[in-house]
Amino acid sequence: MAPGASDADLHAVVAHIEASGGQAFVSRGVMRTIVGVVGSEEVLESLDAEGLRGLSGVAETMRITAPYKLVSAQNHARRTTIRVGGVPIGPDTFTLIAGPCAVETAEQTLAAAQLAKRAGATLLRGGAYKPRTSPYAFQGLGLDGLRILAEVRDEVQLPFVTEVVDAGDVDSVVQYADMLQIGTRNMQNFSLLQAAGASGKPVMLKRGLTATYEEWLMAAEYIAQRGNLDIVLCERGIRSFEPSIRNMLDVSAVAIMQRQSHLPVIVDPSHAAGRRDLVVPLARAGIAAGADGIMVDVHAHPESALVDGAQALSGATLEELAVAVATLPALLGRTSAAHLAG
Ligand code: PEP
Ligand code: MN
Repeated sequence: MAPGASDADLHAVVAHIEASGGQAFVSRGVMRTIVGVVGSEEVLESLDAEGLRGLSGVAETMRITAPYKLVSAQNHARRTTIRVGGVPIGPDTFTLIAGPCAVETAEQTLAAAQLAKRAGATLLRGGAYKPRTSPYAFQGLGLDGLRILAEVRDEVQLPFVTEVVDAGDVDSVVQYADMLQIGTRNMQNFSLLQAAGASGKPVMLKRGLTATYEEWLMAAEYIAQRGNLDIVLCERGIRSFEPSIRNMLDVSAVAIMQRQSHLPVIVDPSHAAGRRDLVVPLARAGIAAGADGIMVDVHAHPESALVDGAQALSGATLEELAVAVATLPALLGRTSAAHLAG
């Protein structure tokens, strides 16, 4: 309540809360009076909607419990480490995930995986099902792409993460993949989130193009609610007004999500930047902000890549990334599996 609020104001606020089905707990301090409200999610939402804040004598209202329960940092003394095919992602380590945006051929995927491994990657990425903006663009190899990824995993010894675009594909993707990726465009595809939650595989949940932190965590809650807490949050840039970059990497998201949630948080500088020249600077920023890992696009011949060649690392830029990954996480006390090739 505001310092000058009257008893009549206080009684009106309490009556309003009770009429909405909530319980009101009044604590009178020397300087101000605080009204605690307890109730179900529906009750709290209807109170917000009805404008508790608009009542006479109310100074401010704030939520002190998160609407996401399972992924919240509350009741977790430490952030969680999850394992993908034995590879840790969490607060003590730093994990590089790298590979082609899309699986095009077995040779292309193998070449990218070898480059990724040499740069210090301990997990492979690659899209078999691609969520394309245009229906005329390459849509991915589907099941054939999964088979290629599985072969390359065995040859290069890197477990892999791959996107699942449709809830109906979850069953086939889990037969091959070590981790499921839910892409930006599907962050609020709730039936897909539930199917991924029931899959028994770790899930990487990318942030929606315009998602708030709370919407992102509520999406993670859908996965968690199905009994799957092996979730990694991936910040990959959000829509901004600037046309020269694909998306705007939100570095604040790394620190904030790690505070709000116990889940690991990684950064994808490739899909944020959309341009090769920005990938390493943004990767460094992500590492400095405390990311538990990064995921980057790698291609042996970016100029001929079928998807996202403009942002794929190879040659000198990949070497720069390898140096950043081999040196910077250690400054923040992280153990990095990264190593530069002899
Ligand atoms: C991807 O990682 O391949 C991808 C499509 O990313 P995003 O969902 O972030 O656009
Ligand atoms: Mn891509």
